[in-house]
Amino acid sequence: METFKYTLDRSSKKFVCPNCGKKRFVLYVDINTGNYLTDDFGKCDREQNCNYHKFNKSLGSICKALAIFISVRTVVFTFALSILAI
Ligand SMILES: [Zn+2]
Repeated sequence: METFKYTLDRSSKKFVCPNCGKKRFVLYVDINTGNYLTDDFGKCDREQNCNYHKFNKSLGSICKALAIFISVRTVVFTFALSILAI
């Protein structure tokens, strides 16, 4: 199974937020290489005031595909159970 390849940087390093201009921006890092993704993929620390959060697009579509897969599987599983119950 494919593992989650990106995560928010766990170090306390902060960058300038592209939205509010404050140095409270946490970047995404590649888990395998430890490198930052492009410097606009990240999350602003100022949840209340700014709430800027930009996510990797391809990563987002993978999550969406996975969510669809899981929901379809749940439907099929429920269907199979209902047949078995009869
Ligand atoms: Zn911000």
